[in-house]
Amino acid sequence: MSINVTRSSMPPFEEYCDEIRGLWDSRWLTNMGCKHRQLEEDLQRYLQCGQITLFTNGHLALENILQAFRLEGEIITTPFTFASTTHAIVRCGCKPVFCDIDPVTYTLDPGKLEALITERTAAILPVHVYGNLCDTDRIGEIGRKYGLPVIYDAAHSFGVFRNGVSSACFGDAAMFSFHATKVFHTIEGGAVCCHSEEIRRRLCDLKNFGIHDEENVPYVGGNAKMNEFCAAMGICNLRHLEEEIEKRRLVREHYDGRLGGTPGLRLNRVQENTRSNNAYYPVVFDGFRLNRNEVYAKLSAEGIIPRKYFYPLTSAFACYDGWEGFDPSATPIAAQIAAQVLTLPIYADLTTDTVDRICDLILG
Ligand SMILES: *Cc1c(COP(=O)(O)O)cnc(C)c1O
Repeated sequence: MSINVTRSSMPPFEEYCDEIRGLWDSRWLTNMGCKHRQLEEDLQRYLQCGQITLFTNGHLALENILQAFRLEGEIITTPFTFASTTHAIVRCGCKPVFCDIDPVTYTLDPGKLEALITERTAAILPVHVYGNLCDTDRIGEIGRKYGLPVIYDAAHSFGVFRNGVSSACFGDAAMFSFHATKVFHTIEGGAVCCHSEEIRRRLCDLKNFGIHDEENVPYVGGNAKMNEFCAAMGICNLRHLEEEIEKRRLVREHYDGRLGGTPGLRLNRVQENTRSNNAYYPVVFDGFRLNRNEVYAKLSAEGIIPRKYFYPLTSAFACYDGWEGFDPSATPIAAQIAAQVLTLPIYADLTTDTVDRICDLILG
């Protein structure tokens, strides 16, 4: 059996059955039913954020945020991210403007942000890459100085807390993905956390065809509602989340012990005053005996499937060939990391023996 970069966590089968049993009586399967309401309450308590609303997935959550803020023009973002971030901007009719990243945290470099702001800039959309938090203080300051909303793609950062404050609280809005491959999941799902009751209200309408109530449709909305079965999965998984993160921590520390100090390997540092969610285990191969692609090939040949997150940069995607401003060489640090990084398998029940086998292959 192959070892993939991640493996979905599942609650005990009986626990999920108990959670969904009531749906056979209520016959209320979607459209903001009782599981949906309960998960929103549970998440709000866990994240300690202002407003929250659930979505059918993280990507549509992000598109709906851009619509709720009525953004038009340019959005400054990072090319070192999953396809979703850049596609959401383009699909909403805006133009991504790519800012380079910090070589240590892999997140948007605030030192390079201000130079990209023009009168066309509508918002800033950074990503908490691998669960490393962006420099939210400096980005927030720049946002306020120019009157730009800051919207975080927080898809990697569920369960990350800095000084006890969850990643849901930073910026004007934060998007989470609850996809099956994420640390916390609802099979497919997502959420938006924000501080404004008006934005939350708009998001609730937008995800339901723009319908506010039976006779009042103020927005051209789509359908991005989370169903009751997904919400029930989330309710169960949230009960086990801390245990899940703790198990991942042990895996991460085992990797750190085996790979730390090796010349030519750069590991991801847990940030100061931050509780990591241990979502990813990125390694940058910079001057190591083997290059990234050689390590990838060596592991794959043994049935171990790491991922080149994030290669290629979104600014290098074929769908954007010839588009103005989509130039990987304009973000040289992002381009270099994309060529050198590999995220190794990490999940709660990944055994120490398997981690040892992966490390032996890399180091051997
Ligand atoms: C997973 C992910 C998304 C998209 O979330 P879905 O729930 O799969 O739609 C967006 N951005 C980043 C950085 C992600 O990792």
